[in-house]
Amino acid sequence: MKLDAIQAAEAKLLLTTYERNPILFVRGDGVHLIDEKGDRYLDLLSGIGVNALGYGHPAIESAIAEQSKKLIHISNLFFHEGQAELALRLTGASGLDRAFFSNSGTEAWEAALKLARAYAGMKRSEGKHLGTRFLALEQSFHGRTMGSVATTYKEKYREPFAPVMPDVDFVRFNDVKDLKANFSSDVCAVLLEAVQGEGGIRPVSQEFIEAARELTRSTGALLIVDEIQAGLGRTGKWFGYQHYGIKPDVTTLAKPIAGGLPLGVMLCTEEAAQAIHPGMHGTTFGGGPLACAVAVAVYDTIEKEHLLDHVQEVGNYFHQKLDQLKQKHIAITEVRGLGLMLAAELDSAELAKTVLAEMVKRHILINRTSETVLRFLPPFILDKEHVDDAIDALDTILTEHSPAHAGEQAHTMGGTHIG
Ligand SMILES: *Cc1c(COP(=O)(O)O)cnc(C)c1O
Repeated sequence: MKLDAIQAAEAKLLLTTYERNPILFVRGDGVHLIDEKGDRYLDLLSGIGVNALGYGHPAIESAIAEQSKKLIHISNLFFHEGQAELALRLTGASGLDRAFFSNSGTEAWEAALKLARAYAGMKRSEGKHLGTRFLALEQSFHGRTMGSVATTYKEKYREPFAPVMPDVDFVRFNDVKDLKANFSSDVCAVLLEAVQGEGGIRPVSQEFIEAARELTRSTGALLIVDEIQAGLGRTGKWFGYQHYGIKPDVTTLAKPIAGGLPLGVMLCTEEAAQAIHPGMHGTTFGGGPLACAVAVAVYDTIEKEHLLDHVQEVGNYFHQKLDQLKQKHIAITEVRGLGLMLAAELDSAELAKTVLAEMVKRHILINRTSETVLRFLPPFILDKEHVDDAIDALDTILTEHSPAHAGEQAHTMGGTHIG
């Protein structure tokens, strides 16, 4: 099918959940995507933070090829070697003790929410007071299923589906006072992202995450950190919370974990894991042999190719270049992020939209979140020369669309007219 035929068919046949870019990609190569005409695009979005090793990585290709010949699915009624191999690596990297595998981010998050409720119930049965309330943060994003969406801040995601899961309150982002005012022994868990993704690439403050850790510890509530976007190396460390020197009770991973195959995981302490018994929770597909084999290959490749260091180095370079761009263009109000999880906030949603469209015309893919925020989630294998290309393009576009430039043009035109 050609692109226009696909567009027509989808318009008629699919739920209208997405506004897709009218581009038909047919393959990828490293940090580039290639469309049906053979045009190459620099990909600074990597399928929303998923394709960490870029496209066509030999480690992923051979893991898929080899495992697909052996076993793709077996269900969680039998053993296969993938979950243990992967759990060994992820518990080692996270400092947590046990893993539960799912198919997606939102399912990993659901597992974390269910664990928190079950854990509080277990504590109550032991005579402690621990309630059922969750404290989530403003601008948070934790997924689209009923529980996850209840802990997601934006009303437009929740309201049409009301009533969602009750007992969630939202605390102002990085506002320790508001956290303390909302916290009590009614709370079973405090929920946060080390770096908010969808909410505009906002790193949590040291003060806030420390306060959340201390408060939860004081009552026995769980601190649950969502690393679905920031985790597995995107910030230059395996987990975003490792930048803060704290350890949560529970964390979740998904997006980059299995090289583009669907896989999520919830990791937790031995103590929290005591709340879960056989039959309480489960999944048909989650943690299947194929996804786990690829995830092991992704993890080992990040280690072998020293990609955490590479992400830090190229991420710092990208951050510096964005800072320099901010000095030059008043339309950039803030540059934020850690590693290769970066954002430049602009002073208008209209301009952000224009910049996105102009970048696509120049064959560079970025993303816009929270209306005004340009978001960069490139593959971990990005090099400095790619950063330079992106920065040059942004510089040109922002110059062409700056009010000063428009003013200059008007002036020149006026001059010509008078002359
Ligand atoms: C993407 C994301 C999710 C949801 O993951 P899905 O795989 O889309 O269900 C949850 N939390 C965060 C922080 C995310 O970025």
